[in-house]
Amino acid sequence: MVAIPAGSRESDGECPAHGIFPDNIPSMSEATRSLHDLDLASLREVLAADGVNPVHAAALWRSLHREGRATPEELAAAPLLPPLHRWLERALAPGGGWFLDRPEPVEEIPSSDGLTRKFLLRLRDGQTIETVLMGYEGRHTVCVSTQAGCAMGCVFCATGQMGFVRHLRPGEIVAQVHHARRVLRSVDPEKRVRNLVLMGMGEPLHNYEAVMHALGIISDTRGLAIGPARIAISTVGVVPGIRRLASEGRPYRLAVSLHGSTREERSALVPADKRWSFDELLEACRDYGRETGKRIFFEWTLIEGRNDSPETAERLAALLAGMDAHLNLIPLNPTGGFDGVESQAGSARRFQAILRAAGFPCTFRQRRGIDVAAGCGMLRAERKKPAATAGVSPSRR
Ligand code: SAH
Ligand code: SF4
Repeated sequence: MVAIPAGSRESDGECPAHGIFPDNIPSMSEATRSLHDLDLASLREVLAADGVNPVHAAALWRSLHREGRATPEELAAAPLLPPLHRWLERALAPGGGWFLDRPEPVEEIPSSDGLTRKFLLRLRDGQTIETVLMGYEGRHTVCVSTQAGCAMGCVFCATGQMGFVRHLRPGEIVAQVHHARRVLRSVDPEKRVRNLVLMGMGEPLHNYEAVMHALGIISDTRGLAIGPARIAISTVGVVPGIRRLASEGRPYRLAVSLHGSTREERSALVPADKRWSFDELLEACRDYGRETGKRIFFEWTLIEGRNDSPETAERLAALLAGMDAHLNLIPLNPTGGFDGVESQAGSARRFQAILRAAGFPCTFRQRRGIDVAAGCGMLRAERKKPAATAGVSPSRR
């Protein structure tokens, strides 16, 4: 039996925002499964179970993940041995038991900065998710979604305002990287996706199994080969997930969305704080740093009058004292369901100066493609807006 990652299974407790996890998740008993869900070892097992020499798995893996072939036609044209072609023809035929994850691009929006492209992708069940390709000097970063919607309900986040729809399977996460890579190659075949951030729609540590499985596939040097040190997982602060990352020795970078320096300040913005308390979160971060020896990147969305005062900055510096921490300040992107506004430039600079004076590296996240609603969840939410309210709401999403 091939181990299919339980990305869609619920086993990790309660929804921090709503008490119980919603159960509208895709069934793992689906008659067909995605080849993109499989790591190389599982692919070998699948082939062996179907009487194909598993030694051929490496060639198929290469076609799927190195060459990025993602349709039956593209695979039929691959230089594979006849037994593999015969198996693919059978497996991918209707009723053959397997499919390929190739999300359909519904919309592609280039930003006026010329470097950011945002994709709205439709999955097999009609759900839409967002993927963003960001070009920086000499490198390209892909930002992927890990869930359709999100259960954590952060008040300033478009995805949080949508609510949770379902977890993504590993193949659906991997396929976003392939999509971005295809687009990048069509522009310039020499260009490579170097970095990956899990900062799109959804909370990665709420979909732990599927995300870790997907990252194993994405970082495999025989395929997409994005090095683990170039992969950043951003979490709202799912404490058991942070502890598990440390205990399992996962090699990825960790970013924690903090946004508040006291329980009151944070829980007003991040409802998940009620599930995993501020103190528990900071303790888990300290333990993570001690156990892994790795730096934590703390994300802080600056909101005028809510979390941008000099007192907050001083308190934050004191809380993080002794930790190997990097502060990443994010300008607030406008969302229709939240009336907070972006910090004034002066307050933001003062905030940064205080953290720096306390010895922490503290940078502003480059604002990318905000003119095309490239902030987290913004495009998806814009399309979801019912026609009756379109044009009435001041929201851009
Ligand atoms: N769920 C994860 C990762 C996805 S959100 C997390 O919360 O960390 C990625 C980042 O975008 C988080 O730091 C989040 O706080 C930030 N974010 C969400 N909505 C935003 C908005 N409207 N403006 C600025 N940053 C936002
Ligand atoms: Fe979910 Fe992250 Fe948005 Fe919070 S900020 S609602 S955790 S996607």
